[in-house]
Amino acid sequence: MPSTRRSPVVVRLALPAVLSLALAASTLSGCTASAQGQGADDRPVVLTTFTVLADVAQNVAGDHLRVESITKAGAEIHGYEPTPRDIAKASEADLILDNGLNLESWFGQFVESVDVPHVVVSDGVEPLDITEDITEDASTGKPNPHAWMSPVNVQVYVDNMVEAFGDLDPAHADEFEANGAAYQAELQEVQDELVDGLSALPEHQRALVTCEGAFSYLARDAGLTERYIWPVNAEQQATPQQITSAIEFVRANDVPAVFCESTVSDKPMRQVVDATGAAFGGTLYVDSLSEPDGPVPTYLDLIRYDTETIVGALTGSAS
Ligand SMILES: [Zn+2]
Repeated sequence: MPSTRRSPVVVRLALPAVLSLALAASTLSGCTASAQGQGADDRPVVLTTFTVLADVAQNVAGDHLRVESITKAGAEIHGYEPTPRDIAKASEADLILDNGLNLESWFGQFVESVDVPHVVVSDGVEPLDITEDITEDASTGKPNPHAWMSPVNVQVYVDNMVEAFGDLDPAHADEFEANGAAYQAELQEVQDELVDGLSALPEHQRALVTCEGAFSYLARDAGLTERYIWPVNAEQQATPQQITSAIEFVRANDVPAVFCESTVSDKPMRQVVDATGAAFGGTLYVDSLSEPDGPVPTYLDLIRYDTETIVGALTGSAS
């Protein structure tokens, strides 16, 4: 009898010891998995072609998807050449988002080399065509790809993302929808700020002269006349005729300030400045966000920053 009474005691002692060993082992293996970094992160991966789309997508995705951009902050995005690493990374993604409207000239070939679904986020946006008001080139008559420079268009991008993310991760579809609606309200706010801010410009200062013709949508929304040296970033840009034409426009319209985009050289615009006496109004952000510690870490920052820079330089109130 005494022995049978003792044995349950032994068992009771032994069991917690085995359990704690098992716990220690599983904690250890848990540590190893997260030490390997992404191994522990099994969220679906969404890749975008450039940083602006990644930021918009992140706002819709919340914490449920891993969103990354193929091109990095500051990169030239029109004629980007994907690296073997980009292709390897893309082939492991669950979804790729591109802007469309001929923005990414490299993208067609890129998606052919990977077996991953992709969604064109500008679907449903009414495109503005590139007109030939300077010199006709290969882009004339094609849609202007910079549709995101109108926050109202980005509301359409968000609708497309909500739908694509809901298909990718149906368990969180309601959250994507709620995130999308909240972000669309912020887009409306920044759109109103843009239109209000630029409507303060006097009639004779309502001309926006930039390097690339990237502001067609913003100029339409804000009632500005847009002029640029070249229509879309390409290998052939800033020809002597294009620069002469910009100089003539600035002189004829007494344009107080001109601008250039962050992802291209501002040298040609400096020539316009030297020839006309217009001020260099500053660097505008279009095709890329800045690094996180720069002036435009998010898309909403980008629109606000450009609006302030344009208004400040054209009215002479810039610091
Ligand atoms: Zn561009």
